[in-house]
Amino acid sequence: MFRGLFLLSFIFWFNNINFSQTLRCGSNPTPSQIPNQSELEAFTQKWISENEFTLQNRSIITIPVVVHVVWNQTVQNISTEQIQSQIELLNKDFRALNTDLSTVPAEFQNTIADIEIEFCLAKVDPNGEPTNGITRTFTQAPAILGSTSIHYNSEGGSDAWDSSKYLNIWVANSNSIAGFGSFPGEDIPEEDGIEINYQNFGNILVEPPYHLGRTTTHEIGHYLNLCHVWTNDCEDDKVLDTPISSQSYLGKCPVHPSVSCGSNDMFMNFMYWTNDACMAMFTKGQKMRILATLNGPRAGLLTSNGCIEVGTNQFEKELNLTVFPNPSLGILNLNFGNKTDLSLLRFELIHKNGFKTHPNINSSLSTNYFDLSHLPNGIYFLKVSQKDQMFVKKIILAK
Ligand SMILES: [Zn+2]
Repeated sequence: MFRGLFLLSFIFWFNNINFSQTLRCGSNPTPSQIPNQSELEAFTQKWISENEFTLQNRSIITIPVVVHVVWNQTVQNISTEQIQSQIELLNKDFRALNTDLSTVPAEFQNTIADIEIEFCLAKVDPNGEPTNGITRTFTQAPAILGSTSIHYNSEGGSDAWDSSKYLNIWVANSNSIAGFGSFPGEDIPEEDGIEINYQNFGNILVEPPYHLGRTTTHEIGHYLNLCHVWTNDCEDDKVLDTPISSQSYLGKCPVHPSVSCGSNDMFMNFMYWTNDACMAMFTKGQKMRILATLNGPRAGLLTSNGCIEVGTNQFEKELNLTVFPNPSLGILNLNFGNKTDLSLLRFELIHKNGFKTHPNINSSLSTNYFDLSHLPNGIYFLKVSQKDQMFVKKIILAK
């Protein structure tokens, strides 16, 4: 229901612009449209104030993605290569590896953030079966993007996968809009995710000005609780290092400096409506909002096994490691089912909030163990690696 409201308010908002132009994004909810929005914002600000010291050098978070291609014309049934191109572009934009970062003006260079998030096409589906992370559905509807029907098999769309464990991306045809994104807390779970016009997904067979995958980068920004940088009345986006602005730069590629609300606009931020070729960065302040979201309303993504290949991790099979007891009171025993040279193994213990430590392995006559009694209680991930092979086990510390 919210989607329809957003679209109507959006069209009303922009009734002065040229409608032959594709609208950049249909996500622009007011706080009253998000249940519990004030509680969520209070949580976000509290988390940021308590975790500012953990901004850099965190463990990379990998978010499992399922792409639902919902097509009416053959051309809309986009290729797997086009889908993969979008994942690769996301993994550049969210890791500050996009080459156009060099175009960011000097005054904003210090605010550029590596968000330390990557995306994978899901390798295991909600039933535990192997998958390529893509569903394909024929629909009778010529332009289903933006309709609630896109989220339901029974209405000619495609059912979401568990949206607490997967980022659902629906790709379909729209006659007017490039993309939509759900804010955390906005939607019912079956409709949570983002929607992208097939003509703006990836960088294969797509046309300017939205041809570099940045519609998806922008909508995932909303999905992770980022607002647009600008508002029409110079309100704040609740991010300290993005200058207040009144310009969306829809369909534009501005020249720096462009001034509004008394300061130079960061129009090259992904959360503007600038053309794809003219946006390049997230900020450190935006990164903190994203991390708060991943430790709050979207925390389920951190414990998803959607990116872990089923039954093909030969290294894990060879070691045959069991850890016990789990939950642990502080001593965590390690039993290697197969004989192994422990000196070749590297252990890393990563807390759900991102901080990491390298536990020392202790050996007694009967067993090997970690003493974790000095660490705070919580959920950890034990990463076991040897050269370029690795696997992860979830550990709960409850002293
Ligand atoms: Zn937007």
